[in-house]
Amino acid sequence: RFLSVEGGEGVGKSTQILALADAIRQAGHDVVITREPGGTSGAETIRQLVLGGSAERWYPRAEALLFAAARSDHVERLIKPALESGKWVISDRFLDSSRAYQGGGSGLSDADILTLHQIGSRGLLPDRTLVLRLDSGEAIRRASARDAGQADRIQGRNSAFHSDVDNAFVSFAETDPRVRLVDASGEPKTVTARLLSEISDLLIK
Ligand code: C5P
Repeated sequence: RFLSVEGGEGVGKSTQILALADAIRQAGHDVVITREPGGTSGAETIRQLVLGGSAERWYPRAEALLFAAARSDHVERLIKPALESGKWVISDRFLDSSRAYQGGGSGLSDADILTLHQIGSRGLLPDRTLVLRLDSGEAIRRASARDAGQADRIQGRNSAFHSDVDNAFVSFAETDPRVRLVDASGEPKTVTARLLSEISDLLIK
């Protein structure tokens, strides 16, 4: 099974992914945790190019191509082989981040992003996509408590960008049962329970 976990920065994605993986392992499955952009050495190199901060910001179209190339390497070398050997894969971000950030946030069409995904990754989709959501004030507070650079990056993009990204995730969930919105507020354990309830049908099969 292939799961992706999405959501803006500061919503607790990393913590929740570890907890989710523990629960799936307890149900008797092997789990591989990976992330996007990244997951393989080639894709991590592209991550550095895009997020490393040395170059000026890429144009959204170039950024979308770089993310699609990173995902292609990630899918072929890591995700597909793991799925074929019967493992569960949890990816911290996947295609829907491109659709939300380069699409909803930066204005590329969803059709173009899906075409890039078709070319790069033969259209591979997660079995389920869990979108963690928190209001943006709380997300910025949580991120700055941990990493000032990350909080700056969040604040550096204006709040309209963030609400466009969030609206994009909401619209994916409204039109596709694969995508589930999950409230990320409250105790970590409570959030994990919410996530598990969204994949319970996959766990029993
Ligand atoms: O918190 P995380 O490591 O997932 O952050 C990765 C960064 O990459 C985020 O700032 C997000 O805005 C950005 N990103 C993006 N487009 C993607 C994937 C990630 O802009 N397709």
